[in-house]
Amino acid sequence: MRVLAVGAHPDDLEILCAGTLARYVAQGHDVIMAHASRGDKGHGEIPHPEVGETRDREAEAAADVIGAESMSLGFLDGEIYVNDDSMRRVVDMIRVAKPDLIITHHPDDYHGDHSALTKLVLDASFLATVPYYVTSEPAHPVTPPVYFMDTLAGIDFTPTDYVDITEMLELKKEAMAQHDSQITWLRDHHATDILDYIETIARFRGLQCGAQYAEGFQQMRAWGRMSPERLLP
Ligand SMILES: [Zn+2]
Repeated sequence: MRVLAVGAHPDDLEILCAGTLARYVAQGHDVIMAHASRGDKGHGEIPHPEVGETRDREAEAAADVIGAESMSLGFLDGEIYVNDDSMRRVVDMIRVAKPDLIITHHPDDYHGDHSALTKLVLDASFLATVPYYVTSEPAHPVTPPVYFMDTLAGIDFTPTDYVDITEMLELKKEAMAQHDSQITWLRDHHATDILDYIETIARFRGLQCGAQYAEGFQQMRAWGRMSPERLLP
């Protein structure tokens, strides 16, 4: 199976679903970790023009830890909007990645980039299958099932599905640790120790499902997107 995980910023997937992605890789599936925006405003000390490049590199290093391929869509941080140009860019990402399954943000997550990206991904993952929606890439034949990953801090999110990530927790934290710029930015700007946060949320989701550590998901419930089989690892 080809699994495409799409986050709005370069560290979202590491925070919200990297343990699950590592389990897919361990089972022999191909995983693509895509970040839509370069996260170029996510720092206060690195000179602004360098932040996007720094964070692209950090995302590539994190994907290496997970054993996934890294992909960047090149949007500007805080400037993901639902419009024709954005839709074509996301359709092309899907046509290149050729996913059998997509993981992305919950539609109501806290950041405007997150919710805009989800709207783009849901519409684009259908349009990508339509040959007469013409872009530079050929149509992808699969309308993939979609799983929404947890919201930040799990707010207003009740998982329908859990993945036991007990054996992958250290790998998930190691992937997050590649985002040096965000360890300091989140500490200074958000008063958050992100590695402690990751472990705490994983333990909380674990308590809900009887695992030591877990990640929670919701399946997108819509015609053409359901499967009789469990698709999460
Ligand atoms: Zn984000």
